[in-house]
Parts: sequence; structure tokens; C-alpha cells
Amino acid sequence: MRKVLAFDLGGTKFAFGVVNEDGSVLGSGRVETFAEKGPQQACERVAEATRKLLAELRLKPADFVAIGVASPGPLDIARGCVDGSPNLGSAWTGFSITGFLSNSFGGLPARIDNDCNAAALGEYRFGAGKGKKNVVYITVSTGIGGGAVIDGRLMRGANGNAAELGHIPLTMDGPRCGCGNPGCWEVYASGTAIARRTREALAAGRPSSIVKFAGGIDQVTTHHLFQAMAEGDALAKEIWAESINYLGRGLGAVINTFNPDVIVVGGGVTAAGDALFVPMRKSADQYAFPRLSAVCSIVPAGLGGNVGVVGAAACAFEHVS
Ligand SMILES: [Zn+2]
Repeated sequence: MRKVLAFDLGGTKFAFGVVNEDGSVLGSGRVETFAEKGPQQACERVAEATRKLLAELRLKPADFVAIGVASPGPLDIARGCVDGSPNLGSAWTGFSITGFLSNSFGGLPARIDNDCNAAALGEYRFGAGKGKKNVVYITVSTGIGGGAVIDGRLMRGANGNAAELGHIPLTMDGPRCGCGNPGCWEVYASGTAIARRTREALAAGRPSSIVKFAGGIDQVTTHHLFQAMAEGDALAKEIWAESINYLGRGLGAVINTFNPDVIVVGGGVTAAGDALFVPMRKSADQYAFPRLSAVCSIVPAGLGGNVGVVGAAACAFEHVS
């Protein structure tokens, strides 16, 4: 079976793995990125750790058909580098990650993709979107990221940065987003945003058991919100209902834009399970055209913690198919 080397670059961890053409992971590992020290040292360390893994698996570069890299955007795909990523820092701009890794592993063809786009292709090919032609992937964690596979092809757009769905504007005058604009989807509905809205309500003096679970207002996360909700806390239920409404509003826009067969939702907030998926589905239906929402299911991601590496692998296989 054909194999690829897959890399998942993040602000804190740089993961790597050996992935088969059926999506199974033969071996994997991770090193610290130390993003602030720049790309050369991170790439050298991940290459070294990968060489050790290959030695353990008794594999050599010639056993692979390609290299795939998933990275936070924005990217310059043609040059294989990050281009102004707020997660990694300016030192990374212009350093060819694909060039470095290709040189380190026998000149294998290498490609880089936005991490959410890679995850979308991974879920389409190997995960919860398998067997469908139109799959949108959404991750709801510190931000909201997205990727879309439409008619069986990953939508990359003019320069590889398509489907920045977290920045769909929901309002004209909302809180300021990291992107600079007010009212983006992710400033209302990401895990970070839900926690922030909870802290704001508590700071305004609303009574709630949430603080008891967190220890203090500043420590409140979505986890404490769920704990309080399980006890029937009124404020927790109110904030969760608002969050569901914001999530559904964005998903409605996604359904109307892409007409997907399935929206695959990943990220930390999905730990809420049915308490998320059941009402979120109803809310999305409210905001989407019935003809489009009727054919669209909304399901939890299938690849779990492997999504980065397996997504990068899916991009690598696509590159050489
Ligand atoms: Zn934004």
C-alpha cells in the first residue's frame, strides 16, 4: 500500500506521522514547535524525530510517494510557506517548509495546505464525510475554522486560502475579532467566545453556580459552563442557548453557500455531544433554505486527534494521484 509522510504544524506542537493510503496511521509523534525561535529549528527537530520513527518502522524515504503538511494560514502554497500567520510569528514568512522537508527526505514531492482545508479533505476521504461528495468541515475551538470539499474536490480558491468560515460577519457592530473586523462568527460562537461571553455575564453580577465550578470568574471555560448546565443552572442554560443560536446562524450560512451533503463538526466544543448537536441542528435549519437543509446532515468529526496528520496525508495523496 502507498504511504506518505504527513506533518501537522501548530503554534505549540509539530506532529508527524506515517500514513497509509487507507488513512491508517502506521506511526506518529510530535515535537514542540517553539514557534518564536523560527522555522529552521522547528523543521530540523521534526525531521530528526521523523527519521527516528522511520528507523523504528524500518522505512526509508523511497518507501513514500509524497509529503503533506497542514499548517495554520494564511499560506503561500506555491512556495510552500506560511505568509503572515498570527499563530507562528513573522519569522516564518517566506521559509519554505515543503522545500526543507522535501530536501530532508529524498526529494519527495511535498505540498502544504491550510490546516482546516486539510482536515476537510481528511474527513472527506477517511472520516465522517466518507462516501459523500460535498463535505464541509468546521472546527469550533479557540476560533472557528472551515474547509470545503465540493463535488469531490477540495476548494482551495485563488491562492489556497478558501473557506475562512469563522469570519462570516454575523453583525455590524459586534465584538472585535482577531482579524480586525467586528461581529465575525467566531467572536460569538468559538469555545473561546462562549467562555468570554460567560465571564462577561458573571462580571455583570448575574448569579450562577458556574463560578463555583471554575473557582473564579477569570478561570471560567466552556467545561465549567457544561458542568453548571448539567445542574440546571439558569445562566448556563441561557448562554448555551445563545451559543447554539450563533452556531446555527453560521451553519445556516454555510448550508446556503455550499449546499453540502454533510457538515462535519470538530473541535473542543463538540465534547458537549448531543447537548450541542441536537439543538444546533434545529437552529441551523431555521437559518437555511429548507430545500438545502433537508439534504444536509450535521455530524461529529470522525478522525479525532489524528485529524491534523491524516488531513495532511489526504492532501499528499491528492497531490500525487
Ligand atoms: Zn474575523
